[in-house]
Amino acid sequence: MQRLRQAARRLKYRFASHALILMYHRVTELPNDPYLLAVTPKHFAEQLEVIRRYGVPMPLRQMVEALQNGKVPKRAVVVTFDDGYADNLHQAKPLLERYEIPATVFVTAGQVGSRREFWWDELDRLLLQAGTLPARLQLNLNGNAYERELGEASTYTEEDCRRYRDWHIEREDDPSPRHRLFRRLYAELSALVGGDRQTVMDELLVWAGAERTGRRSHYALTTEELVLLQKGGLVDVGAHTMTHPYLAALTGAEQNCEIRQCKECLEAILGCPVTSFAYPHGSSTPESVAILNEAGFVCACSSHPDAVWRDADCFYLPRVVVRDWSYKPFKRWLRWWKDG
Ligand SMILES: [Zn+2]
Repeated sequence: MQRLRQAARRLKYRFASHALILMYHRVTELPNDPYLLAVTPKHFAEQLEVIRRYGVPMPLRQMVEALQNGKVPKRAVVVTFDDGYADNLHQAKPLLERYEIPATVFVTAGQVGSRREFWWDELDRLLLQAGTLPARLQLNLNGNAYERELGEASTYTEEDCRRYRDWHIEREDDPSPRHRLFRRLYAELSALVGGDRQTVMDELLVWAGAERTGRRSHYALTTEELVLLQKGGLVDVGAHTMTHPYLAALTGAEQNCEIRQCKECLEAILGCPVTSFAYPHGSSTPESVAILNEAGFVCACSSHPDAVWRDADCFYLPRVVVRDWSYKPFKRWLRWWKDG
């Protein structure tokens, strides 16, 4: 009986109308992309063409309103970006305008105008770009001494950069000692919260003898760019906390600060209400939802990969990650999500 019910549910879902929220981070061309965040401008244009032709692009807010009225618009596709990289304005927006496709950009407010890179990009700059590092690494990780002889990981050549340019963190192999070190430090840093992580990143920069100012290609939006991004009404700005933490690792009071400060900060820059939110790393707790509700948000996007069905929770909207696919693979992928 249960199996029958499940089959009926699947069948119902197969023909039920559902929307899809796409999750992007960057539109740009990078020499290496260890977190698979970038879609090239060429592929992004091709993807927008597919969305125009086979879907019904709509703003997140409009989709949420429809959902609240018990109607999920058929073939609806919503475009979102996380983090707030400057390329969202310079590369993505002109293409969104060309295809008249609306989007929401969730901005990490603490990073706005910073000439330092996001910590994960800083780690890439220190470890996966050509250069020689000191032979011995000593760090204070959350009160624990972390020590390591780098050995062969100490050097990383231009040739290594070229050879491993397609390597990314979702692969299972680590082709060199430098990649092993990168993966290890990424895991250690991910586990730290805001201030602690910043302290370790500062220590790492000094240890590596690297500049604090980051690569222009990895800049976040400035306040002026943020205003330009929202100008025209096609792109809408949402909140993505102050420091991009795992909210589930924070106390209620800390979550409250991260969420409210971000909203206030973005509203002060933009001069209009910011009412949508995306959980950094997809991490949330029931308390996060209560805080968002109280602060006046109307929806929040998670990183749970699914289509948006009629019974979807507006504070836990599923999203699907888009990779750097060209026209045909993207069309196949979109079809799979839309038609099952
Ligand atoms: Zn993010």
